[in-house]
Amino acid sequence: MLRENQQEHDQEHDGCAGRDWDSVRARVRQFVEQRIYPLERELDASHAPDAKRLMADLMLAAKRADLWALGHPRELGGHGMPFMDYVRVNEVIGRSHHAMQALGTLSLQDSLMLARHGRPEWRERYLKPIVDGEFVPSFAMTEPDVASSDPTRLETRARLEDGVWVISGRKWFTTGAALARYTTVMCRTEEDAPAHDAFSLIIVPTDAVGYRIVRDTPILGIQGGHYEIELLDVRVPEANLLGPRGHGFRIAQQRLGPGRIFHCMRWLGQAQRAFELMCRRLHERVTSGGTLAGKQLMQGHVFESAAQIHSCRLLTLSAARALDEGREAREEIGIIKVLGARMLHDVIDRAIQVFGAMGLTADTPLELMYRHARAARIYDGPDEVHVQSVAKRLLSRHKDGAPGVDFAALS
Ligand SMILES: Cc1cc2nc3c(=O)[nH]c(=O)nc-3n(C[C@H](O)[C@H](O)[C@H](O)COP(=O)(O)OP(=O)(O)OC[C@H]3O[C@@H](n4cnc5c(N)ncnc54)[C@H](O)[C@@H]3O)c2cc1C
Repeated sequence: MLRENQQEHDQEHDGCAGRDWDSVRARVRQFVEQRIYPLERELDASHAPDAKRLMADLMLAAKRADLWALGHPRELGGHGMPFMDYVRVNEVIGRSHHAMQALGTLSLQDSLMLARHGRPEWRERYLKPIVDGEFVPSFAMTEPDVASSDPTRLETRARLEDGVWVISGRKWFTTGAALARYTTVMCRTEEDAPAHDAFSLIIVPTDAVGYRIVRDTPILGIQGGHYEIELLDVRVPEANLLGPRGHGFRIAQQRLGPGRIFHCMRWLGQAQRAFELMCRRLHERVTSGGTLAGKQLMQGHVFESAAQIHSCRLLTLSAARALDEGREAREEIGIIKVLGARMLHDVIDRAIQVFGAMGLTADTPLELMYRHARAARIYDGPDEVHVQSVAKRLLSRHKDGAPGVDFAALS
């Protein structure tokens, strides 16, 4: 897949040579800071008609500014930005939680998945509208009744009957389901195959009979993002299968590597925003004989935060380069997923501490950033799962007299 990525990127660059992606990145940052920051509170009320209208206006403004869908391949209607440049753009997109939707990057992984693995009729029906931002993507894997960090335990099943998939099960934390036209559902389709070949991804239109949103599941008080859904004998055509039968995990894995790099870069953008707020406050706030900036314990917060941001940034860019060169970089990506989520949490936590009681209120963006940050240690695989899988991979290289890990060979 990674090689395939590389080739696709090379093709996409035809005709883009010489484009000044640094200045595009600078314009994205300007857009996020000048256009999105001032509207964040209204946009947070995502169900309100005003929020929908404001988001639609922002999306239009991004298209007019030629900043829409920067990372999507050109043949899908995007700019075909080179992978490493796009990685760095995610850092500035991450400064605001609303920027992905406003700039049309939310659908990247789903549109690539559809383009690579969808049947022609689904590509024709959904690709253009999803890239245009007419609806948001949604991907349903996690289930309430099983420990979904081990996806081989998933219980949603699909059986093929006369050219129709009949699907039953229950999912939750399906992000975006309420605004999606379809959900890609991970189902067990093979009863006798080994667990990793037993699951498939099937496109389920959200208006299919038997598909029901049961409830919104607010997280730490944030509403309107993640939904529990029920599938009760939902019937969809055989052609709704993505890729071959039993390839569900393989296809899902293709989204995960680059997806985690983009997550980490966005977390770095959030953390840098928190860091800037913290430093400004330290200079402004005066207490016992001087500004907070002069207190050594406060300087410790600055040091620890800068060290975490800087080291995570280098590790993430290095993992991205490895991926760009066609390597899987599974250890590097597992490491940055854990360290990146930790860094995000710690930096925002220190910034809140510096602001005192005000940091806990909605008078700064920090309290909302903190609530979002907590989830980063769970979604896309909880910390412990990454720790375990990286450690196992590293240990296996030291087994039975094997030469061991060569850190110089890691990116
Ligand atoms: C904001 C957010 C958005 C999400 N979006 C989506 C989405 O769009 N689609 C989707 O399908 N899912 C989504 N999820 C779900 C997410 O991917 C799962 O919550 C995650 O994979 C963990 O599964 P689980 O909740 O079932 O935890 P469980 O598997 O029940 O694990 C519970 C805890 O046990 C520990 N644990 C688990 N395994 C191990 C182990 N091997 N060793 C040691 N400890 C372990 C960890 O601490 C873990 O947090 C989202 C979650 C959040 C918070």
